[in-house]
Amino acid sequence: MSEQPSAATVVALDPATTAGVGAPLEFAEYEAENGSTNGQIAGPDRTFTTVASEASGRRAVWLDGAGSFVEFRLSAPANALTVRYAVPDGPAGKPVHAKLGVYADGDRVAELAVTSRYCCYYGRYPFTNDAADGNGHHFFDHARILLAKVLPAGTVVRLMGSPGNPALRCAIDLVDFERVPRPLRRPARSLSIVDFGGDPHGELDSREAFAKAIGAASSSRRPLWVPPGHFLLNGHVRVDRVEIAGAGPWYSILQGDGVGLYGHDAPNPSRAVYIHDLAIIGEVNERDDHKPLAGIGGALGGGSRIRDLFIQHVKVGLWLDGPFDGLVVRHIRVLDTTADGLNLHRGISNVIVEDSFFRNNGDDGIASWAEKLANHHIIIRHNTVVAPILANGVAIYGGHDIAVSNNLIADTLTEGGGLHLGNRFGAVPLSGRISLQGNMVVRGGSFDPRWHIGVGAVWLYALDAPIKAQIEVQRTTLLDSSQEAVLLMGKRIDGLVVNGLRVDRAGGRLIELRADGTATLSGVDATGVMDPAVLMCGAFLLEWNGSNSRFGRSSAHGC
Ligand code: CA
Repeated sequence: MSEQPSAATVVALDPATTAGVGAPLEFAEYEAENGSTNGQIAGPDRTFTTVASEASGRRAVWLDGAGSFVEFRLSAPANALTVRYAVPDGPAGKPVHAKLGVYADGDRVAELAVTSRYCCYYGRYPFTNDAADGNGHHFFDHARILLAKVLPAGTVVRLMGSPGNPALRCAIDLVDFERVPRPLRRPARSLSIVDFGGDPHGELDSREAFAKAIGAASSSRRPLWVPPGHFLLNGHVRVDRVEIAGAGPWYSILQGDGVGLYGHDAPNPSRAVYIHDLAIIGEVNERDDHKPLAGIGGALGGGSRIRDLFIQHVKVGLWLDGPFDGLVVRHIRVLDTTADGLNLHRGISNVIVEDSFFRNNGDDGIASWAEKLANHHIIIRHNTVVAPILANGVAIYGGHDIAVSNNLIADTLTEGGGLHLGNRFGAVPLSGRISLQGNMVVRGGSFDPRWHIGVGAVWLYALDAPIKAQIEVQRTTLLDSSQEAVLLMGKRIDGLVVNGLRVDRAGGRLIELRADGTATLSGVDATGVMDPAVLMCGAFLLEWNGSNSRFGRSSAHGC
């Protein structure tokens, strides 16, 4: 296991560190541990099953009982906040519901409902809600609220148990403060869901209304308008050749048990679907791999577009089953899933996933899984993945011609790395050009309890078949990796070219080579890594080109 870094050396995910990488954010993250508090700071700690290990920056603040608070001074005006918190389950795993007071310069301006309903999975994969199974983890959830007025810069916002709930015990990881714009206007020529019987008060199930309205909008080629309101959808709605427009993800909310917008099943995908400016909020608090419980699902090709969505409490934010071709996903926020944030599953081509934000997902943040059918011409760029509770930040399982660039990944936890390439899970082996460029991983990688080895922040795994592809890892930054910085393992790996790699601190070596193969490295700058910098378990030919600085290039042999 790596040594735990001291609080003074925690790398912040602030713009000074992350300029040029990750998603453009309309909110600012305020880490609770950097606020003012009379509570207890937990961490830093990277030990799986501790609350701190799942927190952003691996630290959080415990509020415990009357008068316990954490507060923040706003550096910019805000009228909305999203709090990442953990309310522990009650005895025997019973859910606890509570209220968190929000105070602005001493006045109570809101109460946030917080709950342990989405906290805590137990036992082994795919996990249960039964505390008796032990191994409790996945502690955090998010609660968000839009305030009645804008708080100016300089306002001190305090979180504390509300008067009716003074004995609150709750960990606060961070708060996202933002200034939410006014609701968007109804698009010209649009049909309104309300005119088809949709209930904006969230009392009646609006599925039938949506089905009718989508049919009418599609056949008349007019947008379908979802005005501000809460619309109950206790199940899926099918979408095809339609635009669904909301007033913004803080205003137009689709919610319910099993809520989701789904394309038709491949190989007859929906086409020309355009969904934007709304929220999809489910009630999923289990992981059942046989239930379709995605926020967006099915097959969506033919120039479909998804943008400006807020997706929460579903199994997977977007689970798309190919084959299909042609989709852009842009600027979405996916929080609190029990499995992946987004998964492109088999035979999917010409897809861009960009400018999107993922936090507290129960499995890979973003995955391209070429099971049996190759995914190809996939671009994953300028996304941010924070604190996936299992597996990797961005994972590419097989396929060809895939580019992963300028993404920010932070705080991976267990059974995974930060950036991962794998011939695994029955995927068509990696081939063609696989480009990882300009990405940053902070506190990435993890100790794998099954294998008793560390997994690197960059991790290649040739499990099912050797990896032989044009793999270009360029301009990559790995900060404070939990274990070794880079791990190559499994069957033979050939074709890796590293050009520009900055490693600043790692709990292990620069590179572990638990595979045979060949790779070329240039422009490697590493500091604070274990010496010798390379661990060689088999027969691997590393060719060092050009300048490489600040570490010994000798290898330790034998594993
Ligand atoms: Ca934190």
